Amino acid sequence: MAASGIRGGGRNHGTASAYNNYGCRCEPCREAASAARRAWVISLQDRLFAEVPHGTASGYRNWGCRCEPCSAARAGGRDRGREAS
Ligand SMILES: [Zn+2]
Ligand SMILES: [Zn+2]
Repeated sequence: MAASGIRGGGRNHGTASAYNNYGCRCEPCREAASAARRAWVISLQDRLFAEVPHGTASGYRNWGCRCEPCSAARAGGRDRGREAS
């Protein structure tokens, strides 16, 4: 039998996609993922404040907004969807 226990030989470690797509949690991948996330949050912050749907859980969660209405919406779990909390 060929050794089949070795997986991920072809992955590019140290990339956010290895972390997100392959679920790799090695240190380089974790760092790349958190760096990508930071960049993403910053890119969201660069957008117009008015573009964010404030006062919704999506404003908090998807847009990374931490303004008072968004934080309140998130705390209250109020969203237009009917996801069970
Ligand atoms: Zn990795
Ligand atoms: Zn907001």
